[in-house]
Amino acid sequence: MFNSLSDRLTATFKNLRGKGRLTEADVDATVREIRRALLDADVAVPVVREFTGRVRERALGAEVSAALNPSQQIVKIVNEELQEILGGETRRIRLAKNGPTIIMLAGLQGAGKTTLAGKLSKWLKAQGHSPMLVACDLQRPNAVTQLQVVGQRANVPVFAPHPGATSQELDQPAGDPVAVARAGVEEARQKLHDVVIVDTAGRLGVDADMMEQARQIRRAIVPNEVLFVIDSMIGQDAVNTALAFDEGVNFTGIVLSKLDGDARGGAALSVASVTGKPVMFASTGEGLDDFELFHPDRMASRILD
Ligand code: GDP
Repeated sequence: MFNSLSDRLTATFKNLRGKGRLTEADVDATVREIRRALLDADVAVPVVREFTGRVRERALGAEVSAALNPSQQIVKIVNEELQEILGGETRRIRLAKNGPTIIMLAGLQGAGKTTLAGKLSKWLKAQGHSPMLVACDLQRPNAVTQLQVVGQRANVPVFAPHPGATSQELDQPAGDPVAVARAGVEEARQKLHDVVIVDTAGRLGVDADMMEQARQIRRAIVPNEVLFVIDSMIGQDAVNTALAFDEGVNFTGIVLSKLDGDARGGAALSVASVTGKPVMFASTGEGLDDFELFHPDRMASRILD
């Protein structure tokens, strides 16, 4: 994903190799190159500005280390700042102390929520959890079926508001996602599932009705985590979409999906920075195993590799 950004940054640092001391002009030239590389990778302008400002300040500052030469020093600073904009430390799911841990998924249609529900439940199962999925995307005709298929592949039960599903949901009003979410969580509690993942409806763009529905679901089920799923290839819209969802549902973590794509991907790097929320997972393909816990330090190192 970040190949071209990675190449550009590596080339920039190569120019500094062998220099015994960096002048202010060296630092400025380097920061300029970093700025261009980030902008070309689609990182949002305010994020680039802040990032390069901090790198410049630190590079010119008193952080002189006997162990590192000037080019290593700058690489170290950029590495730490990249890690910071990606959310700092690795952030794991906060498990509920009593009853099921409730995880709500939110994001635009096509972002990868339903696929993520399967990936996350398979991953949680492998760690000894007993997840259950709840289908609250009643907007898209196929969404419930799609979640059921994903549930079958991951071998986890799916609570869904129509016949053929596994539970008492026939009592629920089929058209009300808030009621379905509430009933799904209740069923998970009764059946002693320790994690319940609630898939919600998205639209192609940010939409007031969709957001209100997501907000109501959040209020009804009081999730431990609200994961905002974003397609890494969405480009410059990423920032506004993320800000809208953050305002709408106050998400607790970010999932970058489609990181396997070959788009520039820098917009995804901006999302954590502008919302102040951590990236928690990376989705890297259509298969249920194409999924990993996101480590900001490893991603930063990979970009600077
Ligand atoms: P939703 O509308 O948010 O539930 O999105 P879906 O889970 O239905 O995903 C939309 C499309 O993106 C589907 O065709 C998925 O197979 C595909 N998809 C989801 N996650 C990934 C990913 O990480 N990489 C790739 N390449 N495709 C993905």
